[in-house]
This record gives sequence, C-alpha cells and structure tokens, in this order.
Amino acid sequence: MIAVRFLGTGGARFVVARQIRASGGMWFRFDGAAQAPVTQIHVDPGPGALVRALSAVPPCEPLELDAIALSHKHLDHAGDVNAMIEAMTQGGWRRRGALLAPRDAFEGEAVIFPYAADFVPTRHYLTAKSGPYTINDIEVFTSIRHLHGVETYGLHFRHAGQTISYLPCGRFFDALIDDYRAHAPDALILNVLRYRDEMDVDHLTFDQARAVIAGVRPKVAVLTHFGTRMLERRPDRLARELEEELGLRVLAAVDGWTFDATTEIAAATGNAPV
Ligand SMILES: [Zn+2]
Ligand SMILES: [Zn+2]
Repeated sequence: MIAVRFLGTGGARFVVARQIRASGGMWFRFDGAAQAPVTQIHVDPGPGALVRALSAVPPCEPLELDAIALSHKHLDHAGDVNAMIEAMTQGGWRRRGALLAPRDAFEGEAVIFPYAADFVPTRHYLTAKSGPYTINDIEVFTSIRHLHGVETYGLHFRHAGQTISYLPCGRFFDALIDDYRAHAPDALILNVLRYRDEMDVDHLTFDQARAVIAGVRPKVAVLTHFGTRMLERRPDRLARELEEELGLRVLAAVDGWTFDATTEIAAATGNAPV
C-alpha cells in the first residue's frame, strides 16, 4: 500500500513566504507485503517541514524515516533538509537512513550541510535517468533533467508492481512527456505553480500540466505546489474540469491531506472502460 501525506502544497516565493499554503513537502509511506518493512521517504522538505511532520495527526515520525529525497535544492524544497536530517538521526547520535539529492545540493553552494550529511550513512547523488536506487523494497528512478536553473530531477517510485511518479518544478518541453510516459506511472504527482504564463519562467502552467497528464495518462494525477494565481482559480475546481475533459482521475492536493494512492489507483482501474 502506498500513501502520500502532503505536509505542504504551496509553491512560488510569495505563497511560501506568507505560508498561504504550507511548504513541508510530501511524506511517502509504503507498506510492505508480509515480511517487508514499512518504508517512509520524505520528499522535498521545504520551510516548516519538521513542524508540519510532528504536528500531523497521527504524526509523521522522523526517527522512522528511511530516506530524505530532494528533487532540487531551491528553498521551497530544501529549507528544512538539515533539520529533518537531525531529526531522522537523533541529532547525529544514530547514524541511519539515506539521502537522495542532486550533487549540487551537496557541493558548492550546498544546501545540505556537510556535517549533517555525515550523519547519514547512505548518500545517493542523483543524475539524469538513473536508478534504481534501492530503499528497502522500493526502487527509485530519476527522470531526465528538468529545465529549472539548478539540477532538478523527477522521481519514479516503484513498489509492489506499482509506480508513483513525482514531477517537480521545471519549464515545459516535449521530452518531459515521453520520459514520464516511459515509466507508465499509475499515479503522477505534478507541481503546477502557474495558471497562465505571463512571465515565461521555469515552471509548468496549468495548460502545460494538462498536456503532460494527457500525454502520460496515469490512472490518477495529483496537482500540487500552487502559486497565487492557481490558488485564486481554485485547484479543486480545475482538477474536476480536467478530470472530465481527460477521462482520468485528477485530484488537487491540500495541506495535511493523505493521498491513498493504492485505493485511488484501484478505484480508477475499476471504473476504466474495458
Ligand atoms: Zn518549487
Ligand atoms: Zn525550484
């Protein structure tokens, strides 16, 4: 069983700076079959992630984390990464877990402090189209490099025959669709920061997200990481419109929501025309 708790659904500087939506990232929980352990991976711990994790009901427990993953090193994705590493390792007293991040998060203008990285025994420097990186019985693969200023990769999580993909921030280009489609995700979580593009920035607009979902055709798509204009347009309403238009399940994430991927995928499969 795969569930994703949204500790934040905000993107863009203004939304994050004002915490109009929270920015704690996503907490993945993979329940193993009989013998396999539960695996928990925190993806993109932005500002407030640790507080959001501990104040969730029931709490997301950092000491039970198996890995922390960064799609890229921008603040809204990595602001709390060092706090979360300390929490995962009990302030460094228990060396444990794994870190997955592009190399530029570790080196140069590093956002992961070297002392904190040393608390984590397994470090994976993500590169384009790589993997599997193995965390218990989860296989993680990366996407092609996104067009986003700093090194940025999408993540494909494979577990018990299902794939759930995360498409982080970046400019739209056609090859994105082919790359994500090749992984045939059952569920696709996408960052849709902008409604329309007035400024030509390195982020998906709603129309481009529609093109990606239509091209990749997951069973379930989840929109998240919203900027102000997206929030004004009501992401839940936009998701419903898209669902009708494309004939596949589309959901809009809200803070604190748990996306029960396994149930949603099963429901979507059951409803699909034969
Ligand atoms: Zn972002
Ligand atoms: Zn970014």
